[in-house]
Amino acid sequence: EAKARGGAQALLYAPQFDDPAGAALMLEQDLHHAIDNDELRLHFQPQLWADGRLRAVEALVRWQHPRLGLLGPDRFIPFAEERGLIGAIDDWVLRRALQLLSRWDALGLPVPRVAVNRSGCGLRRDLVERVDAALAEQGLDGTRLEIEITETALSADGAEALSVLHALRERQISVAVDDFGEGYSSLGQLHRLPIDVLKIDRSFVRDIGEPRANAMVAAVLGMARALGLGTLAEGVEQPAQQQLLLELGCEALQGFGCCRPLADEPLQTWLRGRAAG
Ligand code: C2E
Ligand code: MG
Ligand code: MG
Ligand code: MG
Repeated sequence: EAKARGGAQALLYAPQFDDPAGAALMLEQDLHHAIDNDELRLHFQPQLWADGRLRAVEALVRWQHPRLGLLGPDRFIPFAEERGLIGAIDDWVLRRALQLLSRWDALGLPVPRVAVNRSGCGLRRDLVERVDAALAEQGLDGTRLEIEITETALSADGAEALSVLHALRERQISVAVDDFGEGYSSLGQLHRLPIDVLKIDRSFVRDIGEPRANAMVAAVLGMARALGLGTLAEGVEQPAQQQLLLELGCEALQGFGCCRPLADEPLQTWLRGRAAG
């Protein structure tokens, strides 16, 4: 048991470990119970329009592990994807995020919509049923929800993904392509897909100031405009990045420079502070 526990830690902390099978099994069992044991947490990062109004908050999952502490998604999402546990996690995130959204509504805190992430193969048929059920549960309509998908999801299964995207559009649910520019698989069919927003990857934003990075950002924004897509930049930390993005016509910003991801209570405080100021 001690060895397996040590192995599980090693899996999380280092690429090499003694007992990969035991460690993975242990972590898988932990992750199976994470939902039942109420160990998943959501943080929310505000997204602001160019004029400072709140556009949405993005739900970002964390795992309050009983022994390892608070784990960020990069520590368990790839594993969950591999083990087929991601569907259950993403569904929990969807329901919990909408539950909190309706609670903020009830408290009079104005959050226009909540954005949730879907992993690689997340554009499967059952997404539509899950989304319908989660919205109905809270009495919310599709305009309150945005789904962030990856370029991989767009290129995965053409026909099924396309029909899911159409179903989401029917419901006025916004679809954003996350980390846009990090891959390039979907570029060829972007103009044919019913998507709404391009989320410019943090790697471009980080390099702003270098002429070549600026050119890339300008090109992505130009393409989005030409395709009638909304634009949102992620990972905005510095005032200089913010300024250039806005000069180039980027519609919305998200990043530590605007606000870090916050748990429910601190987010409420942040929202109240804005309402007061
Ligand atoms: P993402 O969707 O691209 O989310 C943005 C990530 O960048 C978040 O990390 C956020 O905390 C971080 N970030 C935001 N602003 C800044 C900034 O100014 N500078 C820097 N350096 N980082 C910033 P986080 O929470 O660790 O999430 C990492 C990734 O995990 C997410 O990337 C997303 O792909 C995935 N993820 C998070 N929650 C979920 C979920 O519920 N389901 C699925 N399938 N994936 C999720
Ligand atoms: Mg995201
Ligand atoms: Mg992103
Ligand atoms: Mg990212």
